Amino acid sequence: MNTVIAVDRSGSYRVYLTVTTEMVREAIAIHECTPLAGAALGRTMTGAGIMGLMLKDEHARMTLQIKGDGPAQEILAAANGMGEVKAYISNPYLDLPLKGPGKLDVGAAVGAGTLTVIKDLGLKEPYVGRVDLVSGEIAEDLTQYFTVSEQQPSSVALGVRFGVDGGVESAGGMVIQVLPDASEEALKALEDMLFYMDSLTLLINDAKENCTARMGKEPGELQICEELLKLIFKDVPQEYYPEILDRRQISWHCDCSRERMARALVSIGEKDLKTIIDEDGEAELSCTFCRKKYHFGREELTELLRSASKK
Ligand SMILES: [Zn+2]
Repeated sequence: MNTVIAVDRSGSYRVYLTVTTEMVREAIAIHECTPLAGAALGRTMTGAGIMGLMLKDEHARMTLQIKGDGPAQEILAAANGMGEVKAYISNPYLDLPLKGPGKLDVGAAVGAGTLTVIKDLGLKEPYVGRVDLVSGEIAEDLTQYFTVSEQQPSSVALGVRFGVDGGVESAGGMVIQVLPDASEEALKALEDMLFYMDSLTLLINDAKENCTARMGKEPGELQICEELLKLIFKDVPQEYYPEILDRRQISWHCDCSRERMARALVSIGEKDLKTIIDEDGEAELSCTFCRKKYHFGREELTELLRSASKK
């Protein structure tokens, strides 16, 4: 596990806190991202993973789409209630100058555009919410989405930090939701905490160091996450201190399959399928999310054509 859900003692706010270093590393390896593309992708998928856990029903699904006029083009992350996330970025090779020492310019990579959330809650129609991007830095945009589209006052922090070797050093996210009947004092304490808070990824590094020193070995992501919660809220008064209610997992998982790819082939229609068989005699499809390749030979395609013509 790598995620904690906590509520403060006065019932004024809820915290989702996650350390997603491993998941972001995996996604960046799959999509062969540059650090800038990886930061944009990692922030988006960490945010989506937390939003997946908010769905309550494990089989419910949601999609978070960031579409801007910057070179990143589209970033899409899909998550379910179990915290399983898959994601892609249209342009994984993008690169722009740093906006400050060690600061990747995710805002410029994304540009101006929209953030769209689609939730499939098993109802007739999916829920769709859309807001204009505030900065393209993802966390601010999500804060805007929660506040405006869901009328849920929230604070969002998302981060991906790269080490000198160019690999992901730490990644994680935090969403704080203000609960109804929150006390003024609790909100004031929260505001102060957020004002003085260090960057999330630096705090993850500190938490990891603390755990390593205490345990004498490499800590797991859940241990880092619990230590991180202590570090972030260390100056918050006891009566508003968050208590962990639940421990969950946010991880990379692609649910593509041969059957699904076959259905996609059938859906292009009899005529086009026949053209593929006649001209190429085979087809290779690759999954947009995990880039796994699926090969279909002539026999299989003919079989699919038969099932398409039955429809
Ligand atoms: Zn896949």
